[in-house]
Amino acid sequence: MNTGDRSTQISPVLPGGTIGILGGGQLGRMLAMVARRSGYRVAVYSPEENPPAAAFSSDCVVAEYTDRNAIERFAHSVDVVTFEFENVPVEPLRWIEAQVAMRPGLNVFETVQNRSNEKRFLHSAGIPLAPFRVIPSKSALHDALREIPPPCVLKTSGGGYDGKGQFVLRDPGQADIAWEKAGGAVSTLEAFVNLQMEVSVVIARDLSGNIATFGPVENHHSHHILDWSAVPARIDDRIAQRCLEISREIAGQLDLAGLICIEFFVAADGRVLVNEIAPRCHNSGHLTIEAAVTSQFAQQLRTVCGWNVGSFELLRPAAMANLIGDCWDHGTPAWEELARFDNVQLHLYDKHEARPGRKMGHLTATAATPDEAISQVIAARNAICRKN
Ligand code: AMP
Repeated sequence: MNTGDRSTQISPVLPGGTIGILGGGQLGRMLAMVARRSGYRVAVYSPEENPPAAAFSSDCVVAEYTDRNAIERFAHSVDVVTFEFENVPVEPLRWIEAQVAMRPGLNVFETVQNRSNEKRFLHSAGIPLAPFRVIPSKSALHDALREIPPPCVLKTSGGGYDGKGQFVLRDPGQADIAWEKAGGAVSTLEAFVNLQMEVSVVIARDLSGNIATFGPVENHHSHHILDWSAVPARIDDRIAQRCLEISREIAGQLDLAGLICIEFFVAADGRVLVNEIAPRCHNSGHLTIEAAVTSQFAQQLRTVCGWNVGSFELLRPAAMANLIGDCWDHGTPAWEELARFDNVQLHLYDKHEARPGRKMGHLTATAATPDEAISQVIAARNAICRKN
């Protein structure tokens, strides 16, 4: 896929223009903040009333993604459409693309929205993956378990995030229950990887094909939700370079215009395997706000507006810790404790109800080394989240 140098065909969206964002969550909020700072107008499209991004938007359309009238009016009212949420059905994306530039484009969503398609694409592009099989039926699962024996993971093909729609099989006798948990629909069976680390790379590509990469970022999860991240990832430099090389290959193969994040498994034996692609800014890239010359949000803005990529140079080692709803379990966090941490920044997403597992905000620390940044950000989080 190569459409040539599109920068010569399309003029950039300049300040004063309107950025349309599909989705109204915290990623949209941070993108909208950057866009507003730079003099753009922002229109948010969200099925939820009063989403976090609305506070920084000039217009917020509350409607279902499948509401054709609302989608077409929205597309007509903006200069470019981008995303903070990827699980928008493909049909509305076609309605949008018929009216206005959409970045990343439809081809990226068709590839990455569905895990089975994503795996097939990556495999045919020669990208290293954990051994997998696309599973169309229960009997196919029984057959595949002979080729990919437990431990392995059955993952639903669509709509899963933060570990939802996944079932780890420890024994072939769990096939029926796994199939049921996956909703009895087309799924992917994947070998369980003995992990050394999980890392991610944020990558932006402009209309001329110039690329900027950030990372790899080191990621640690708790209950399948990102818990904390740090950069530079504490891995061998050859592994880091390999992640960047694979990321560039994927962005090129997708003919990307805009910004995506690629999640990797680094196996205990040093193999680098792609886990999945997020066609938007990513939680692990939040620390770019403090740590990079161009934040992931500013980079998304630049590339979707048709500007060249900005510098993703790392200014300082950094670490980010998520503030999940559970931190509110014993009352409002002790914000005053943050006064003791002069290198820690607080980000809150203005979500009114703190539910368990809900991302409410995050903290970022910058320091001389990633270890120091990690210990500072974890200490700050421990200080504010009341234990009883
Ligand atoms: P995913 O939704 O595919 O990103 O999976 C969520 C988390 O589950 C990952 O970040 C890993 O921590 C874990 N996981 C998923 N698939 C595998 C696998 N094949 N091997 C080891 N861990 C996995």
